[in-house]
Amino acid sequence: MTAVHVPGTPIIEDGRLVSTSPATGAEAGRLPVATAEDVGRAVDRARAAGEWWAGLGFGGRRERLLRWRSLLARRIEEIAELVHTEGGKPVADAVVEVVTAVEHVDWAARNARRVLGPRRVRSRLVLAEFSAHLEYQPYGVVGVIGPWNYPVFTPIGSAAYALAAGNAVVLKPSEYTPAVGQWLVDTFAEVVPEQPVFTAVHGLGDVGAALCRSGVDKVAFTGSSATARKVMAACAESLTPVLLEAGGKDAMIVDADADLDAAAEACVWGALTNAGQTCIGIERVYAVEPVFDAFVGKVVERAGRLTVGPDNADIGPITMPSQVEVIRRHIDDALSRGGRAVLGGADAVQPPYVRPTVLVDVPEDSAAVREETFGPTLTINRVRDADEAVARANALSYGLGGSVFGRRHAVAIARRLRSGMASVNSALTFAGMSTLPFGGVGDSGFGRIHGEDGLREFSRAKAITRRRARSLLPSTTFERTPADVARLVKAIKVIYGR
Ligand code: NAD
Repeated sequence: MTAVHVPGTPIIEDGRLVSTSPATGAEAGRLPVATAEDVGRAVDRARAAGEWWAGLGFGGRRERLLRWRSLLARRIEEIAELVHTEGGKPVADAVVEVVTAVEHVDWAARNARRVLGPRRVRSRLVLAEFSAHLEYQPYGVVGVIGPWNYPVFTPIGSAAYALAAGNAVVLKPSEYTPAVGQWLVDTFAEVVPEQPVFTAVHGLGDVGAALCRSGVDKVAFTGSSATARKVMAACAESLTPVLLEAGGKDAMIVDADADLDAAAEACVWGALTNAGQTCIGIERVYAVEPVFDAFVGKVVERAGRLTVGPDNADIGPITMPSQVEVIRRHIDDALSRGGRAVLGGADAVQPPYVRPTVLVDVPEDSAAVREETFGPTLTINRVRDADEAVARANALSYGLGGSVFGRRHAVAIARRLRSGMASVNSALTFAGMSTLPFGGVGDSGFGRIHGEDGLREFSRAKAITRRRARSLLPSTTFERTPADVARLVKAIKVIYGR
């Protein structure tokens, strides 16, 4: 019996990884599958290329990265179309994704020298006879392992910053979106044809595992928390440092003084963009009692207007066919335990599509509230006040982003969220702010991409001291005398002993 191919599921055929559209099953990409030896060779080539790239200095890299940024901006329709074909994402969502990625390439290129370049830092009274110098040097080769849900934004969020810092990058794109990953490295090679500074290796999870064990100097992983644990375990064998951008279950809090129309609009987009397949997507809402009913009404009205389908609809197909069963289980579990569907429900699941589903009064211990659903569904639960909302939002082991709507206390509430990021009176906006770091806490991972922290994440701090005068209180020498030590003790008591 031959297995029936489910559209969207990657297949390996004659040593090639074949990606297909989850909407139509049409072939989108066909790329060679790498063996562990191929991965090793790619890393060796990248190491030599990385030395050349580092040698270009900040100025040479900035100029080339800005050329790549220009190419990405000029060919935005082309890459958005490929993202749509291969992953099913609506073209408009793909455009927004690419715009965000372009912004990150621009910022990383323009700011690497300022953030990472050599500088003098102040000396202190102790060791005042030495000047202090700091710079951030590249690791060498960074392995980037990516997911399928934002196949442009997520690899670039690591790669652009790693490249700007002077590293070479070997990318292992998701097996669901290899053609998009290959497009990124091919276009980079158009503007940097001299050396294989940014290349890709393709395949399933074993190729990602081979990359972790290939001798790369750092691994930047974006994907599920379960795989993040495997990546960290593999990297532990060689003490290879890791950056983990993992899953989430982000909450929105709607306070009593919120603008409910704005909150509903942001909630519907934050929860349902990319069919809810967003790591920082809003999956749970806690609305305070006085505004709960009005807020739910506005969300249902807006979400009910969205179109679902293959082309130019608001909501596209579920990219990973196996995820449909997870979404179905979460909806069924919520309903069987007393939750109510005020939009959609069990019938909303029609593979490869899921219609927008809004669940209310869902028990806090149900799968729909506790586990990452990754579908166009949303739970909205009522809470007494903002304190209860914060307690519930913080009750999970995930802690990626979050959103707060309100006036007087909104920023204070955002600061209390146990998450790496939060947006006040908007949703997901921190992801596009290239000046801000992006990353999670707990099961959502650790380390930061984007912003100054994102540049430093891909470099090692190098500290240098340099003598500029004779030591008046010699301490770091065997030639110090008992009198020197006595004077040192006296000086420290004067300076710090008060
Ligand atoms: P996934 O963990 O299944 O796969 C991610 C990547 O890891 C793929 O390229 C896969 O081939 C590779 N991989 C699988 N097994 C591996 C192993 N043992 N060693 C090394 N690599 C291995 O995740 P996914 O389904 O592609 O992506 C969806 C998940 O990603 C969601 O949980 C989502 O929340 C998360 N995500 C997080 C962020 C973030 O920035 N925090 C961004 C986007 C997506």
